[in-house]
Amino acid sequence: MKVLILNCGSSSIKYKLYDDDQQLAEGLLEKIGTAEAQLGHTVAGRKKVVSVHEILEHQAGIELILKALVDPEKGVLTSIEDIQAVGHRVVHGAESFSESTLITPEVVAKIEECIDIAPLHNPPNLAGIYAISHLLPKVPQVAVFDTAFHQTMPDKAFMYAIPYVFYARNHIRKYGFHGISHYYVSHEAAAMLGRAVDELKLITCHLGNGSSVTAVDHGRSVDTSMGFTPLEGLPMGTRCGDIDPAVPLYIMGKEELNLQQINALLNKHSGVLGISGVSNDFRTLEEESDKGDKRATLALEVFCYRLKKYIGSYIAAMNGADAIVFTGGIGENSDAVREMVVKDMEFLGVELDADKNRAKKGGVAADISKPSSRIKVLVIPTNEELVIARDTRRIAAAN
Ligand code: ADP
Repeated sequence: MKVLILNCGSSSIKYKLYDDDQQLAEGLLEKIGTAEAQLGHTVAGRKKVVSVHEILEHQAGIELILKALVDPEKGVLTSIEDIQAVGHRVVHGAESFSESTLITPEVVAKIEECIDIAPLHNPPNLAGIYAISHLLPKVPQVAVFDTAFHQTMPDKAFMYAIPYVFYARNHIRKYGFHGISHYYVSHEAAAMLGRAVDELKLITCHLGNGSSVTAVDHGRSVDTSMGFTPLEGLPMGTRCGDIDPAVPLYIMGKEELNLQQINALLNKHSGVLGISGVSNDFRTLEEESDKGDKRATLALEVFCYRLKKYIGSYIAAMNGADAIVFTGGIGENSDAVREMVVKDMEFLGVELDADKNRAKKGGVAADISKPSSRIKVLVIPTNEELVIARDTRRIAAAN
């Protein structure tokens, strides 16, 4: 079955076309809303083709992508009719969605309701859904949510200690994100360990521009570091992560910042960029740290220390763990981060094989722990699009 996967952001659309599990094409349209929108389109086994267009909104962007897919030279389909289903990554499903679902008018209405708590993410996701409804009205569409996997968290893990009315009335609670990735790597980890996911306790660390860590107990997310928004938890490229909530209040008073300004400060100017003053990119931080930049070193240390503390707390929460899994751009590629995070945890049964860790190359899964390590340390490349493609196929075929 040929399935198109769309991940619509505010000014970009990422897409992949699959035939069953085989990827036929992929691409990224950036700078939507301008006369210089750039489409990078790659058909499997061929060179990337880049073109520039005036694309002012998402529907025009998706039309352009569909054209590229059927283009006689750079395309991969003979007709647009060949697309049998479209899968959308949807960031926030709140408490309405605990699994992927066929998109119906009722489902669209519920995703629209979530705009209130996900004002940045759900509108572009919906723009993609509206566009496909218009351009390919007969094709089934499926929504796959970043929050759904975490809906198994018990209330003791997702409640904030603020007056209960804010949960009851305003739906303020921990939701968690990156669920598609945490789901995927927990299943891959089980396959690597040769065991069923529902007999394992796993700690999955998705470390990229945004980072989160999840306790996966018997295949179910029981706690995760991101919260009501993706700002909570680990410090990230530019996001502050966990912070005393009095700090933003204090800064707002001192610096006379308004809500928008404090929001930008915590989301865009904090994290490892804020500490280092150098970069949000871990490659640059590692280079600068190696050259002796103290604040770059400090940023890396803060990040790794905070992740280590999360891992310790999740081992306590689950009464043990079988494996710690690293994924995402940093988790898959930075042996320095992995080593800083899991070293000196022998007491808990974590024994890293430093040579295997350093020798580990990007793009392949590996066990980087010693044979004697009671808790295995695994590196697993994530593949969120494949999860979306598989869910889309399964749900479209059943309807
Ligand atoms: P996103 O969260 O946007 O999907 P990725 O998962 O691709 O992002 O992760 C991007 C991050 O991965 C960047 O901060 C980048 O510095 C980091 N990264 C990529 N390769 C390496 C590497 N070899 N060493 C350290 N960090 C890396």
